[in-house]
Amino acid sequence: MTREKIKHYLIMAGSTSHMLRGDKLLKDRSIVTSLVPAPSEYGTVCATAIKIRVEDREEAESIFKNNSITIEGIYPDKARKLIGLVEKLMDSVISPEFMEILKKIEEGEELDLKDIVILLQTERKAEKEALFHAADRMRREVVGDVVDIRGAIEFSNYCRKDCRYCGIGKNLKDLNRYRMDEDEIMEVVHYLHSIGLKTVILQSGEDLWWTPEKISSLIKRVKGETRMNITLSIGERPREEYELYKKLGANNFLLKIETTNRKLFEFIHPDDDFDHRVKCSTWLRELGYLNGSGNIIGLPGQTTEDIAKDILFFKEMGINMIGIGPFVPAKGTPLEDYPKGSIDMTLKAVAVTRIACKRVFIPATTALASLDPDGQTKALKAGANTIMLINTPAKYRYNYQIYSDKNMVDLKSAFKAVEEAKRKMPPYLKVTKLSI
Ligand code: SAM
Repeated sequence: MTREKIKHYLIMAGSTSHMLRGDKLLKDRSIVTSLVPAPSEYGTVCATAIKIRVEDREEAESIFKNNSITIEGIYPDKARKLIGLVEKLMDSVISPEFMEILKKIEEGEELDLKDIVILLQTERKAEKEALFHAADRMRREVVGDVVDIRGAIEFSNYCRKDCRYCGIGKNLKDLNRYRMDEDEIMEVVHYLHSIGLKTVILQSGEDLWWTPEKISSLIKRVKGETRMNITLSIGERPREEYELYKKLGANNFLLKIETTNRKLFEFIHPDDDFDHRVKCSTWLRELGYLNGSGNIIGLPGQTTEDIAKDILFFKEMGINMIGIGPFVPAKGTPLEDYPKGSIDMTLKAVAVTRIACKRVFIPATTALASLDPDGQTKALKAGANTIMLINTPAKYRYNYQIYSDKNMVDLKSAFKAVEEAKRKMPPYLKVTKLSI
């Protein structure tokens, strides 16, 4: 057996602030670093490690020591192998080219752009099955069988932007605009807490009525009254605001890049700048949020290579949560007559993302559930490990139709998907299938 040559180490710092300070110090001394999700054996799900080159270890340790930064451990960055993957598939009708990539996956080698395009392009049944199987094995290896369940509250559908695909854009007139007040939001937060959920997702349009003071007050109440983890999804804000919310206890932030093709990004986002969006995402990472991004599959003019580049972007940016959903045409928007995104391509993108990015949260998205009643089960079998329940009160829900016929993902459908995918509900959940 050949011994694997280690090229990188992963440093686990004593805390998030030590990790961020340490990373900055190393970069200031021209040591090449990247922040990556730590493998399960070295930390809790989605803890972040600093990746350095083997030759920089001694200097990095001494910089940390001189600046009182605690190191919890330094581990070799081992390749994540899927032993026996290819042998099992030998009888299937798989092209030699596709088989070569599966061998790379088996050996834990990194996939390049060309490999990813080939994986995404396949239309052969046996190859797709092999891809989903590899992703499912990787998912089991890196995050296990438990499906993380989170509750989302869409607390305002006011938006200052006019993204061409989105059903709550500012120019859409046939829409009752609403804002939940703090007490209404807290009522739902308490319900989510009572059923044992650990994370609440607070999502809205880009609504500046929600000033830093109002958002801060909400964060303080959620933390003070329930201690739940908070994921914010409120769009682009100044760095100081992101910093303020982090200090007050917000844990995660979801800001999808939607597409990394600049031209396409500009076409669908008349009010946004691609570089600024990337900058916001970089700030969130620097500030220590678990950083969420994602893309929309099947946007007009999007190519397979664009999707492959999105996946490499998630990997290079060290994104921790990656939402991949099909484009769903929304009534009244400039894109309403364009065809919907392909479920098949969305599932392939989920699978390749799991293989390329490994230890990340990948939700079975609501958009997928809206186009296919079995969409969530299929995503869970193709590498996904999270379900986001929609807990927006019934009287507001209809007006948060970011796309038409948005399916409501509730506890019942989550139980169904988890059972069908032969996975486990999280131990923290205080309700059972029979009690809901
Ligand atoms: N305003 C926040 C932001 O921009 O990050 C969060 C709200 S936004 C409505 C949430 C997500 O909905 C977007 O990131 C986008 O991916 C998704 N979305 C909106 N319209 C969509 C459509 N027609 N098809 C698929 N996804 C859509």
